[in-house]
Amino acid sequence: MNLRVEQPCPQCGGSITLSMNDRLLSCAYCKVKSFLLSSSGPFRFALPNRAKEQHKLLHAPYLRFKGNVFSVTDSGVSHRVLDTTQDGCGLPGLPASLGVRPQAMPLARVHSGTGGLYLPFSGQLREIFEKATKLHNLAEGRSKDEPVYHQAYIGETLSFIYLPLLPKNDVLFDAVLGEPLRGSAASAKGVPFQPTWQTKFKAALCPRCGGNLDGEGDCLVPICTNCNIAWQIGKEYLERTDCKVVPGGSHSPALHLPFWRITAALPALGIASFADFAERTNQPFVVRPEWRSQPMQFWIPAFKLRPEIFLRTAKQITISQRQFGAERDLRLKTTANPYPVTLPLSEARQSLKVVLAASAASGRNIFSKLPSAEADVTAAELIYLPFDDQHIDWAQSHTGMVIGKSILQFGRKL
Ligand SMILES: [Zn+2]
Ligand SMILES: [Zn+2]
Repeated sequence: MNLRVEQPCPQCGGSITLSMNDRLLSCAYCKVKSFLLSSSGPFRFALPNRAKEQHKLLHAPYLRFKGNVFSVTDSGVSHRVLDTTQDGCGLPGLPASLGVRPQAMPLARVHSGTGGLYLPFSGQLREIFEKATKLHNLAEGRSKDEPVYHQAYIGETLSFIYLPLLPKNDVLFDAVLGEPLRGSAASAKGVPFQPTWQTKFKAALCPRCGGNLDGEGDCLVPICTNCNIAWQIGKEYLERTDCKVVPGGSHSPALHLPFWRITAALPALGIASFADFAERTNQPFVVRPEWRSQPMQFWIPAFKLRPEIFLRTAKQITISQRQFGAERDLRLKTTANPYPVTLPLSEARQSLKVVLAASAASGRNIFSKLPSAEADVTAAELIYLPFDDQHIDWAQSHTGMVIGKSILQFGRKL
């Protein structure tokens, strides 16, 4: 489920409600559009509270993780959707998780004007991931001895959600519910809001021509309609991204879906070319001599999908990439219906070994070498592939690979 956030407009202060994944803020009052930049790690939110003395509040951090966990074991690639909040300060008496509360009420982004102090985050991200992984393995019914060759977290949203507490004498109160907690206020030492936590906004303008950049709220790579340049929303500014389109052939396709095409070698597995990939993964087709000089490229969906569909799509497009013709520069006028990028390149890069494992006809040659295999990435581009309208599905124009329309819709809510 996508959490809701109440966010004042940085221009006029008007109240806007957006989804937690949204990076483009459109104000209905002043009509100004801005991007949210995450210059210093995860975004920080707080549960709403009704305390009268806001300056006395103590905010306890919870780490929220939402994403897909993929595991490679002897039985193949398994996956699971994980959505969890975990206590991040270890103060005795606090609930271990926020449960369903973040879903039940709109969150507020913390900023320099939010009253009160903040308990430090004492957990380690790694520990929290390991805990989540253990739960995943347990749920899969996996025994402790079964080797896990590789595990990847993809499409993740990491954020801090603060539970506001109110100390009264020595008792700590949950400031959302107004109920006393078992913890003692004496050991809770907070620090003020740190300037580096402040969310930065940037006007939604093309850095090259100054024209308005538009897009849907969750779009991570808006495209300028004047310049035909794709801009990735980075940590500090908008970064120009190489973007091309594969033409659909004689007919006009109805939709273009974005893929991150990542050129990568895996020396530990002896994979440098597409021919190497086809041989190591035992593909059922004859390797052509010209594939020896063709560097290996992974095609990873640049949009969110349920884990099994994400993996299937990445695998099918990667294997059938030889069927696409040469790509062209992106021209928005002639590229029908480009679908927004909702999965960043950084996440796509983490999926390479999982896609490789899923592509293997037999895991024997590959799986045990995965732990020591590093993907050596040399290039990454955004490529739009054409899809045709086939009733309930979108069908890729060259390969016939289908993605259900409802599945694409559902992916927006992930
Ligand atoms: Zn406004
Ligand atoms: Zn422009």
